[in-house]
Amino acid sequence: MHVFREPRVTLLTRQQYLGAPHIQWSGDSPVAAETVAEFAGRLCYLSFGPDAGFEGGHKLIAGRTRNHDYLANILRTRHGSVLEHAVWSLLIEGVSRALTHELVRHRHLSFSQLSQRYVDESEVGFVLPPEIEEGTEAFEIWRRSCERSLEEYRALLARIEQQVKDEPSATQRRKRARQTARSVLPNAAETKIVVTGNARAWRHVIELRGAEGAETEIRRLAIALLRVFQAEAPELFGDYRLVRTPSGVEVVETDFRGV
Ligand SMILES: Cc1cc2nc3c(=O)[nH]c(=O)nc-3n(C[C@H](O)[C@H](O)[C@H](O)COP(=O)(O)OP(=O)(O)OC[C@H]3O[C@@H](n4cnc5c(N)ncnc54)[C@H](O)[C@@H]3O)c2cc1C
Repeated sequence: MHVFREPRVTLLTRQQYLGAPHIQWSGDSPVAAETVAEFAGRLCYLSFGPDAGFEGGHKLIAGRTRNHDYLANILRTRHGSVLEHAVWSLLIEGVSRALTHELVRHRHLSFSQLSQRYVDESEVGFVLPPEIEEGTEAFEIWRRSCERSLEEYRALLARIEQQVKDEPSATQRRKRARQTARSVLPNAAETKIVVTGNARAWRHVIELRGAEGAETEIRRLAIALLRVFQAEAPELFGDYRLVRTPSGVEVVETDFRGV
């Protein structure tokens, strides 16, 4: 039985900033997501500087010159819609169905998840809940339960395949058997999911799921997501810090919650 102990987060896509050839402005951030957010914010006030060359005779103002200062001010003034122009897709693996059940509640993210109706789960792995330590009695109870559910999945799959053998479509036969057999798999069954979202939506997930009240496995994911995004776009996620609470739990904190 394969046991997953940590989530694996892989960055699949980032944006490319092409700029507008007729506008004489380029930011100083090497990160497209940060530049497009800055561009969008500047458009609101035409603060590209007096030489940007917009059509229509508008008066252009200079505004802040560095991306760092610009986005810090966006966070401070809670102009959060500007952050929605920065978008990434991530592959998340090594997480449980229990975790993704919580993750998919975030309505501003887009999801594509491994289907237990199409995919044979006879060899599925299980995600060890972070509260369970290996070598303990709790671990043995958990391991036995996962192994048993896997045996029952396989037995049920074989029975239902037999039961629907006259179904003319092979795809339908497989789907009917797998969608039935999956009902005995536990919440701990490992799953894989592609998630796409903008900086504002990702920030919301990191704040809510990185807090002390969040479930332990998803809090661990929130911290893993934060590490990816802080490396990817430090100006959009650099305000977050990891703090240990008096009860020893690592949580995410910021002065700009809910932007
Ligand atoms: C510690 C914890 C415990 C939880 N326990 C439970 C539980 O017991 N049962 C349960 O069912 N869920 C539970 N949830 C899930 C929770 O209720 C939310 O569904 C989930 O956290 C998604 O967050 P969100 O509602 O902020 O919405 P998101 O979908 O992430 O949206 C982000 C924001 O957009 C706005 N928004 C989105 N959609 C709408 C809308 N239709 N109308 C108005 N504004 C909108 C809101 O401001 C929202 O905060 C829990 C979550 C946490 C963090």
